[in-house]
Amino acid sequence: MKVLIVGAGFAGSVCARELAEAGHQILLVDKRPHIGGNAYDEVDEHGVLVHPYGPHIFHTNSKRVFEYLSRFTDWRFYEHRVLAKVDEQLLPIPINRTTINTLYGKNLTEEEVGAYLESVREPRDPIRTSEDVVLSSVGSDLCEKFFRGYTRKQWGLDLSELSAGVAARIPTRTNDDDRYFGDTFQFMPNEGYTRMFERMLDHPLIEVRLGTDFESVREAWPHDHIVYSGPVDAFYQYRFGKLPYRSLRFVHEHLPDRSRIQDVGTVNYPNDHEYTRITEFKHLTGQQHPGTSTVKEYPQAEGDPFYPIPRPENEALFKQYEALAEQETRVTFIGRLAQYRYYNMDQVVAAALKAAEALLDGNR
Ligand code: FAD
Ligand code: UDP
Repeated sequence: MKVLIVGAGFAGSVCARELAEAGHQILLVDKRPHIGGNAYDEVDEHGVLVHPYGPHIFHTNSKRVFEYLSRFTDWRFYEHRVLAKVDEQLLPIPINRTTINTLYGKNLTEEEVGAYLESVREPRDPIRTSEDVVLSSVGSDLCEKFFRGYTRKQWGLDLSELSAGVAARIPTRTNDDDRYFGDTFQFMPNEGYTRMFERMLDHPLIEVRLGTDFESVREAWPHDHIVYSGPVDAFYQYRFGKLPYRSLRFVHEHLPDRSRIQDVGTVNYPNDHEYTRITEFKHLTGQQHPGTSTVKEYPQAEGDPFYPIPRPENEALFKQYEALAEQETRVTFIGRLAQYRYYNMDQVVAAALKAAEALLDGNR
């Protein structure tokens, strides 16, 4: 079979590898000038490994996904930590015992923190929105200090206008665990994401064409099947209207004379500035360098589609596209943009492995 794959991010690249290993001939195109999709990393002009499309930290509970990617990379152990600037203090987020004690000048035990949260939480039933999630778990003061402003900036929407799943990404803890993620496997690819993608795509049956739009090869390269990981609404020429995606503007900076500017990988600014967070890459990569490189994320409506926006009306519009997609026998839609899901990298890998398997079994 000849398979045209659109998008060289995790979705497209994992499918390319799986199908090539099964003996199929692959043309993988991406309109960008590089592989890796949003996970692409590169050495900046100062010699620091950075993530041009914002910080990417790998974490998963899936042994299968971790073992799969381990075929293409060695790993560096890294547990991401984030501080949020609230009331002129830098406090751990997810909210934990330290957050509560420092913010309120207390010295509560784990049990007492649990009791405190129990006393301030405002249970909601049913839990539909992100506001319901946050108020139900930490109550209004912590909601205002840590969540409402950040969310307004990040999405241009109130917490009450977003589905529950958005805020549910952030747990609440009563202990001292200050890791951003709780997953079993938390690692960074030792030589970076791009190197990992290079190895994944290094197969005699995979041809990669960069700076190439789907439309320019669709007719020109005869194929039996398409794996599409771009935005699903674009595939159907927006026939039901545009699916909203949130975008970001990234401002990268380099400080030649500072080897570190912050104590953790990312500092969140829920209530100050127009950017949501600053990430300092050397924390993530462990790179030694006399200077340091950072990125600030400024959310915006226009630009590259980075985030599907989880709210009921968008999901309803997506369902219309999904109904069309399900009719296709010669196209597989996979990934964060094609499935309109707020997927992490590992979830995209899992979905791509499953889709490739189904295709090989002749189920699509
Ligand atoms: P993408 O990586 O978006 O790849 C799709 C590719 O398709 C793109 O390269 C695009 O150029 C190409 N394309 C689209 N249309 C066309 C066309 N018509 N013709 C040719 N090519 C086309 N996940 C984590 O697990 N951990 C994190 O810490 C994390 N941080 C993130 C931070 C930010 C700022 C963002 C935006 C995302 C983050 N993610 C993170 C999510 C992660 O980026 C995605 O889950 C993953 O990269 C999605 O892979 P994909 O292949 O589905 O999509
Ligand atoms: N969030 C927040 N305050 C924070 C961190 C997260 O309000 O300090 C909310 C916000 O709505 C954000 C969502 O939780 O969009 C998910 O956060 P995450 O860090 O997972 O976002 P991502 O890394 O995907 O941008």
